[in-house]
Amino acid sequence: MKTRILFLAMLAIAVTSCGEKKTPEHTHDYSCSTVKEATCTKEGEKECTCSICGDKITRVIQIEDHTPESCIQKVAPKCSEAGKEECTCAVCGAKVEQDIPATGHIYEDGKCNVCGAAKYGYKVVAANSLNIREEPSVSSSRVGEVSKGKTLLIIEIEENGEEVQGNTQWIKISFQADGKKVYGWVSCAYLTDPVG
Ligand SMILES: [Zn+2]
Ligand SMILES: [Zn+2]
Ligand SMILES: [Zn+2]
Repeated sequence: MKTRILFLAMLAIAVTSCGEKKTPEHTHDYSCSTVKEATCTKEGEKECTCSICGDKITRVIQIEDHTPESCIQKVAPKCSEAGKEECTCAVCGAKVEQDIPATGHIYEDGKCNVCGAAKYGYKVVAANSLNIREEPSVSSSRVGEVSKGKTLLIIEIEENGEEVQGNTQWIKISFQADGKKVYGWVSCAYLTDPVG
């Protein structure tokens, strides 16, 4: 019985290898030509022929993107949020909704002049009275002072200012002096982060 099964199996292999038309093993090498161009509403088609064995296949050309035109703004973009607009496809006339990129913040003196977001955030004065200096150094001219508990908007950060109690970070702030906007630096050794 066993011998008979083995014989049939061998016969099957022999028939298979003799019965098929011999084609050398190869990876098809197709070159394609477009039969039908894709549009924004319909897939296209291309016909491809293998240069080795002549095998022919058809391939789908993906649908093209719409061509948005005459857009009407639906939602205005914000500093950090995209807006939306509705456009009409110049090719097929379909209504296409697309994003309008966020505008990005426009910072001026550490604060966005559109939405008010702070670029670097705020610091709170922890010392009873803190000198504001012309440069990030305790030996530079004193241009003003700020009192304890005052919240300061950070305009610029200097990481390598003069060391004060082991802290070399200084921040640039603005303040009013004689009704004018003046800038100066305070050492972060006397500042804390705002609560919450
Ligand atoms: Zn082939
Ligand atoms: Zn279209
Ligand atoms: Zn903003």
